[in-house]
Amino acid sequence: MKKTLSILLALLMMAGVLAVAPMSAGATDCTHEWGDWSEVTPPTHDEPGQQVKECGECGETDTDAIPPTGEGHTWGEWETVTPSTCAAPGLEERECECGELQTRPIALKAHDFGEWSVTTPPTHVNPGLRERECKDCAYVGSEAVPALGHTWGTTWVTDATHHWKACDCGAKNAFAHTPGGWIVVTPPTATQEGSQKRQCTTCGYVVETDVIPATGLGGWLWIILGAAGVLGGLGLVGAAAVALVGAVIAGILGVAAVGGLAWYFLA
Ligand SMILES: [Zn+2]
Ligand SMILES: [Zn+2]
Ligand SMILES: [Zn+2]
Ligand SMILES: [Zn+2]
Ligand SMILES: [Zn+2]
Repeated sequence: MKKTLSILLALLMMAGVLAVAPMSAGATDCTHEWGDWSEVTPPTHDEPGQQVKECGECGETDTDAIPPTGEGHTWGEWETVTPSTCAAPGLEERECECGELQTRPIALKAHDFGEWSVTTPPTHVNPGLRERECKDCAYVGSEAVPALGHTWGTTWVTDATHHWKACDCGAKNAFAHTPGGWIVVTPPTATQEGSQKRQCTTCGYVVETDVIPATGLGGWLWIILGAAGVLGGLGLVGAAAVALVGAVIAGILGVAAVGGLAWYFLA
């Protein structure tokens, strides 16, 4: 065995690779007296590190991986890369001690609007429009201005069929008249006709008028008959009273006469 090795060594030396020879000899023969591991590259939480140990006898080294720590990234503070404006979001980033970078957008900045200015004034019926501009990016925001609505007058205005209250813009809220019952305006007499009317119960407008026929002599006849009836009644009462008084007087006279006769007979 040793002889074979000597021959091999000689061949190697002749080939000019003498520098490698002692190591090859060591790798084969040395029982290695390993020193302690020393860290070459520290491990991070996700990347293995590297450590090395050396043989005190032959100088051979051995390397091995140090396993990752397995802990999460240890992030630093967020730092602004690009500040946000009201037109574009910004960007901020943070870095881990391992060198990993993380970025995230910064929300849009709110617009810094100036005062509203009305571009289309509202009418009583139609909404208007107002606008305001951002001092930073010139963005123009707009919104509707509510319609003003009508302001109705306080008194009713009428025509033959409707009543309404008017707005000074010319609008009117019209409703059909609602006729009430007949009302006598002028009562009829025996010879002259009277008049009656129907008014709207809301606005008082006279919706309809009509005549009331004269009562004629028929009326007088009833009055005469009525009066005659009353007088006739009084006459009957009077006659009855006269008859009663007459009867009483006659009775007295009768009694007196009978008495007279009696007296006469007694004499
Ligand atoms: Zn060794
Ligand atoms: Zn990290
Ligand atoms: Zn803006
Ligand atoms: Zn109006
Ligand atoms: Zn009316």
